[in-house]
Amino acid sequence: MNSRKNDIEIIYSRLRQHLHGGNGFAINHFMQTPEHSLVKFVLGKGNRLKAMISAGIHGDEPSGVEAICSFLENNRFDNFSDEWELTFLPCLNPYGYEHGLRENHEGKDLNRLFKHESPPTEVRFAKSIFDSSYDLTIELHEDFMTPGYYLYQKGTHAEDDLLGKKILQAVKNIMPINLNGEIDGCSAQGGIIVQGNEPMDWWPMALYSLSKGTRRCLTLETATKLSMDARIEAHLVAIDTALNYFSRKK
Ligand SMILES: [Zn+2]
Repeated sequence: MNSRKNDIEIIYSRLRQHLHGGNGFAINHFMQTPEHSLVKFVLGKGNRLKAMISAGIHGDEPSGVEAICSFLENNRFDNFSDEWELTFLPCLNPYGYEHGLRENHEGKDLNRLFKHESPPTEVRFAKSIFDSSYDLTIELHEDFMTPGYYLYQKGTHAEDDLLGKKILQAVKNIMPINLNGEIDGCSAQGGIIVQGNEPMDWWPMALYSLSKGTRRCLTLETATKLSMDARIEAHLVAIDTALNYFSRKK
């Protein structure tokens, strides 16, 4: 448990290098995890369309964290800077990230605790970012079992279901799509999870986002068995596709 696989401070310093005044690189220090800071940053503050992009809630899924660094380092925001305000939570589980663990330092799967009355610090931090409302939230994950990319989507506008298909059409140029009829215990069609309406006694972050009125909530799953470069690129293409989808609406 003590051997570190990654150093979150390296990620934070990469982000800091590309964030200059006014980008809101805010560090939250929490007493419960004194050695780990939780951070957020905002690009395009005040723009009309608002999205939150988060990663690393499962600490052993580093490609989302890397994708957020890459998005910033490769100036991918330039294409969206006149329309979008993007709030990034680059790593919601720094302890898990550093130790290569899905859970946090208390052994908790943070993405199961968004309905909990007194959730862990990391979840309280994530929930606090929903003090403003979003058109879009994107959560970047990866899956050790899947042979290809897939996604979950929920939202307030049924016509946006088209977005899931558009994302997979773009991603399939980078990596295969998981076309199985069942993925992770859920029924699926064409790489998109089809969920029932049964009430859940626990919420992942996406359902909390939906409860706060987010128009479209995406949970994106890349395939761990493929190369890190491909996983990063697949997530970046998915992010571009989602942002462009709403950009074109007006
Ligand atoms: Zn995950």
